[in-house]
Amino acid sequence: MTQDVHIIGGGLAGSEAAWQLGRRGFRVRLSEMRGTGERSPAHQGDGLAELVCSNSFRSDDDEKNAVGLLHHEMRRCDSLIMSAAAKAQVPAGTALAVDRDLFSAEVEARLAALPNVEIVRERVDTLPDTGTTIVATGPLTAESLAGSIGRATGADSLAFFDAIAPIVYRESIDMDVCWMASRWDKGETKDYINCPMDKDQYLAFHRGLVEGEKTAFKEWEADTPYFDGCMPIEVMAERGVETLRFGPMKPVGLDNPHWATPEHPNGRWPYAVVQLRQDNKLGTIWNMVGFQTKLKHAEQVRLFRTIPGLENAEFARLGGLHRNTFINSPILLDRQLRLKTAPHVRFAGQITGCEGYVESAAVGLMAGLMTATQLAGGEWQSPPRTTALGALLSHITGDAEAESYQPMNVNFGLFPPLHDVKKKQRKEAYTERAKLEIAPWLDALTPA
Ligand SMILES: Cc1cc2nc3c(=O)[nH]c(=O)nc-3n(C[C@H](O)[C@H](O)[C@H](O)COP(=O)(O)OP(=O)(O)OC[C@H]3O[C@@H](n4cnc5c(N)ncnc54)[C@H](O)[C@@H]3O)c2cc1C
Repeated sequence: MTQDVHIIGGGLAGSEAAWQLGRRGFRVRLSEMRGTGERSPAHQGDGLAELVCSNSFRSDDDEKNAVGLLHHEMRRCDSLIMSAAAKAQVPAGTALAVDRDLFSAEVEARLAALPNVEIVRERVDTLPDTGTTIVATGPLTAESLAGSIGRATGADSLAFFDAIAPIVYRESIDMDVCWMASRWDKGETKDYINCPMDKDQYLAFHRGLVEGEKTAFKEWEADTPYFDGCMPIEVMAERGVETLRFGPMKPVGLDNPHWATPEHPNGRWPYAVVQLRQDNKLGTIWNMVGFQTKLKHAEQVRLFRTIPGLENAEFARLGGLHRNTFINSPILLDRQLRLKTAPHVRFAGQITGCEGYVESAAVGLMAGLMTATQLAGGEWQSPPRTTALGALLSHITGDAEAESYQPMNVNFGLFPPLHDVKKKQRKEAYTERAKLEIAPWLDALTPA
């Protein structure tokens, strides 16, 4: 069979992309290296769309939860991953959890039943020079292909590890305690949100970092390097009680106006400062600068809420450090997930810098739809930014800050804000708006 599209990687994203194309009649070659005797260190079997860790697709609540809304939108796009999940569902309260073997078998059977989808067990070592291609090889892309991607994108734009600092919703930061300023600010570039600490607060916080429970690296991650500038905050803290005050928590040049006195009308420098930097163009989410960490998630929430001004912080993402191959999509990809320098190649799944099973599948779904539209000679319309699909796509392909780009789950911080709606009703308002605005986009999709 000659192919219209070559999809590399039969994980969540690649399988979903193959389904979207296959059911629209396009000929797909789906190359998956498992089944050749080779596997990534996390995969256990050879089935397509293997869930490498948890068996949960997280919350299925499409009224108050962004990932639940993403489920809803994917179902409306006839997602293979969502329908296989329904078939393999196991009880898990409001979460959507599955029997992972049944799930994988269902995905594979549905794809195998499409006569125009050819599943080939092979490892692909280089990016094809020609031909419509979707690369969906995931966070543990085989080394040879990763090398080829690195050569095509520039080594600086391909990461092999993430170093995730927590991200906080802007509206949950107490600005009666924090203030906007850049270090040595003369009033012109108030780019950072600053959280002030006195000496006792700093010492208690330092102790919390050193003593807090950490997540261990997996055996095959043991050689995870601590690059300059992304060392975990607790490792830095272990080097000495003053290290952070000369590093990310340096207070110099930061007059706190809330501490102004007649002698110090501009305020005084705190003993230590936690800084947050804007993380998306909407200004709705802010990352804690230099706070990449392997502290356990519950520990992060507890400890970071002791930071003055963050007592009620809501986190769009918590910190982490993992082996994870991903590209700097906001710089490298166009709005249709195509490599700007080689537009016959699209990227999909976690390698684009989204995070999570559902998000990876959702980006695979969109890559499939984009490719189908292109092959049919149509004009692609992105899903509205007010939808979960649109918010995720906008984040990956342009809205995220490229300089600090790190993997991201879907969350309401990626949606255009609804400031006029009361906070209590905001989540429902986001999902209601999304459900309304996705309808005309669905109607205009290339039919199956
Ligand atoms: C250890 C670990 C645990 C995770 N746990 C969770 C979790 O619990 N919940 C969650 O939501 N997310 C989790 N993730 C994150 C992520 O969502 C999943 O990894 C998800 O599977 C990504 O989907 P994907 O389709 O992009 O990649 P994958 O599902 O990994 O699929 C990529 C496929 O490409 C194949 N491949 C790689 N290189 C080649 C090549 N050169 N040629 C041909 N085939 C190739 C691989 O064998 C694989 O089948 C985890 C990630 C890791 C690494």
